[in-house]
Amino acid sequence: MSDCLFCKIVAGEIPAKVVAESDTSLAFYDIAPEAPVHVLVVPKRHFAGVNDVIATDRGVFDELIALAREVATAEGVRDSGYRLIFNVGDEGGQTVPHLHVHVLGGRQMRWPPG
Ligand code: AMP
Ligand code: ZN
Repeated sequence: MSDCLFCKIVAGEIPAKVVAESDTSLAFYDIAPEAPVHVLVVPKRHFAGVNDVIATDRGVFDELIALAREVATAEGVRDSGYRLIFNVGDEGGQTVPHLHVHVLGGRQMRWPPG
Protein backbone atom coordinates (compact mmCIF):
# COMPACT_ATOMS: atom_id res chain seq x y z
CA MET A 1 0.00 0.00 0.00
CA SER A 2 1.95 2.98 -1.28
CA ASP A 3 0.03 5.62 0.65
CA CYS A 4 -0.15 3.80 3.98
CA LEU A 5 1.72 5.42 6.89
CA PHE A 6 2.75 2.18 8.59
CA CYS A 7 3.73 0.54 5.28
CA LYS A 8 6.04 3.52 4.77
CA ILE A 9 7.53 3.00 8.25
CA VAL A 10 8.03 -0.72 7.46
CA ALA A 11 9.73 0.27 4.18
CA GLY A 12 11.97 2.75 5.99
CA GLU A 13 10.51 5.66 4.02
CA ILE A 14 9.28 7.38 7.20
CA PRO A 15 11.50 7.26 10.28
CA ALA A 16 10.43 5.49 13.46
CA LYS A 17 12.20 4.38 16.61
CA VAL A 18 12.26 0.62 16.14
CA VAL A 19 12.15 -1.45 19.34
CA ALA A 20 12.06 -4.99 17.96
CA GLU A 21 11.56 -6.86 14.74
CA SER A 22 10.76 -10.34 13.47
CA ASP A 23 10.51 -11.75 9.96
CA THR A 24 6.88 -10.73 9.77
CA SER A 25 6.39 -7.87 12.23
CA LEU A 26 7.88 -4.56 13.33
CA ALA A 27 7.64 -2.79 16.70
CA PHE A 28 8.26 0.94 17.11
CA TYR A 29 7.49 3.67 19.64
CA ASP A 30 4.19 5.51 19.30
CA ILE A 31 4.78 9.13 18.30
CA ALA A 32 2.24 10.36 20.90
CA PRO A 33 2.73 8.08 23.91
CA GLU A 34 -0.18 7.56 26.33
CA ALA A 35 1.98 5.75 28.89
CA PRO A 36 5.67 5.47 29.83
CA VAL A 37 5.78 2.42 27.55
CA HIS A 38 3.77 2.83 24.34
CA VAL A 39 4.87 0.71 21.41
CA LEU A 40 3.01 -0.23 18.24
CA VAL A 41 3.45 -3.71 16.76
CA VAL A 42 2.48 -4.02 13.10
CA PRO A 43 2.63 -6.79 10.50
CA LYS A 44 5.03 -6.02 7.66
CA ARG A 45 2.26 -7.05 5.27
CA HIS A 46 -0.57 -4.60 4.86
CA PHE A 47 -3.91 -5.44 6.46
CA ALA A 48 -6.30 -2.55 7.02
CA GLY A 49 -7.34 -3.89 10.40
CA VAL A 50 -8.54 -6.82 12.47
CA ASN A 51 -11.57 -7.37 10.20
CA ASP A 52 -9.34 -7.72 7.15
CA VAL A 53 -7.34 -10.73 8.34
CA ILE A 54 -8.91 -13.76 6.66
CA ALA A 55 -8.77 -17.30 8.02
CA THR A 56 -5.65 -18.41 6.13
CA ASP A 57 -3.73 -15.37 7.39
CA ARG A 58 -4.69 -15.64 11.05
CA GLY A 59 -1.15 -16.59 12.00
CA VAL A 60 -0.51 -12.88 11.73
CA PHE A 61 -2.14 -12.45 15.15
CA ASP A 62 0.20 -15.03 16.71
CA GLU A 63 3.15 -13.20 15.22
CA LEU A 64 1.97 -9.82 16.51
CA ILE A 65 1.33 -11.08 20.03
CA ALA A 66 4.65 -12.93 20.11
CA LEU A 67 6.53 -9.75 19.21
CA ALA A 68 4.39 -7.70 21.62
CA ARG A 69 5.48 -10.07 24.41
CA GLU A 70 9.12 -9.59 23.43
CA VAL A 71 8.57 -5.84 23.56
CA ALA A 72 7.00 -6.09 27.02
CA THR A 73 10.04 -8.03 28.22
CA ALA A 74 12.52 -5.65 26.60
CA GLU A 75 10.69 -2.61 28.03
CA GLY A 76 10.65 -4.11 31.52
CA VAL A 77 6.88 -4.45 31.97
CA ARG A 78 6.47 -8.17 31.38
CA ASP A 79 5.93 -8.91 35.08
CA SER A 80 4.52 -5.57 36.30
CA GLY A 81 1.79 -5.85 33.67
CA TYR A 82 0.79 -4.17 30.47
CA ARG A 83 -2.13 -3.75 28.14
CA LEU A 84 -2.51 -4.89 24.52
CA ILE A 85 -5.09 -2.98 22.50
CA PHE A 86 -6.43 -3.46 18.99
CA ASN A 87 -8.59 -0.47 18.01
CA VAL A 88 -10.99 -1.53 15.24
CA GLY A 89 -12.78 0.94 12.99
CA ASP A 90 -14.17 4.38 13.75
CA GLU A 91 -15.97 3.71 17.00
CA GLY A 92 -13.11 1.49 18.11
CA GLY A 93 -10.85 4.52 17.84
CA GLN A 94 -8.72 3.28 14.93
CA THR A 95 -7.05 6.20 13.14
CA VAL A 96 -4.37 4.44 11.09
CA PRO A 97 -5.79 1.80 8.69
CA HIS A 98 -2.88 -0.65 8.97
CA LEU A 99 -3.33 -3.46 11.51
CA HIS A 100 -1.50 -2.76 14.77
CA VAL A 101 -1.55 -3.65 18.44
CA HIS A 102 -0.68 -1.09 21.09
CA VAL A 103 1.62 -2.22 23.93
CA LEU A 104 0.97 0.08 26.90
CA GLY A 105 2.63 -0.11 30.29
CA GLY A 106 4.75 1.53 32.95
CA ARG A 107 1.79 2.91 34.89
CA GLN A 108 -1.42 1.59 36.43
CA MET A 109 -4.02 1.04 33.70
CA ARG A 110 -7.65 1.86 34.45
CA TRP A 111 -10.78 0.01 33.45
CA PRO A 112 -13.06 0.76 31.66
CA PRO A 113 -10.91 2.66 29.15
CA GLY A 114 -13.62 5.15 28.06
P1 AMP B 1 -4.97 3.88 16.37
O1 AMP B 1 -5.70 5.07 16.90
O2 AMP B 1 -5.25 2.61 17.13
O3 AMP B 1 -5.17 3.73 14.88
O4 AMP B 1 -3.44 4.15 16.66
C1 AMP B 1 -2.61 4.83 15.78
C2 AMP B 1 -1.42 5.28 16.58
O5 AMP B 1 -0.41 5.64 15.67
C3 AMP B 1 -1.67 6.51 17.47
O6 AMP B 1 -1.45 6.16 18.84
C4 AMP B 1 -0.67 7.53 16.96
O7 AMP B 1 -0.09 8.29 17.99
C5 AMP B 1 0.36 6.66 16.26
N1 AMP B 1 1.12 7.28 15.19
C6 AMP B 1 0.64 8.09 14.20
N2 AMP B 1 1.64 8.44 13.38
C7 AMP B 1 2.77 7.84 13.85
C8 AMP B 1 4.13 7.83 13.43
N3 AMP B 1 4.57 8.51 12.34
N4 AMP B 1 5.02 7.12 14.18
C9 AMP B 1 4.62 6.44 15.26
N5 AMP B 1 3.34 6.41 15.70
C10 AMP B 1 2.43 7.11 15.01
ZN1 ZN C 1 -0.09 -0.51 5.40
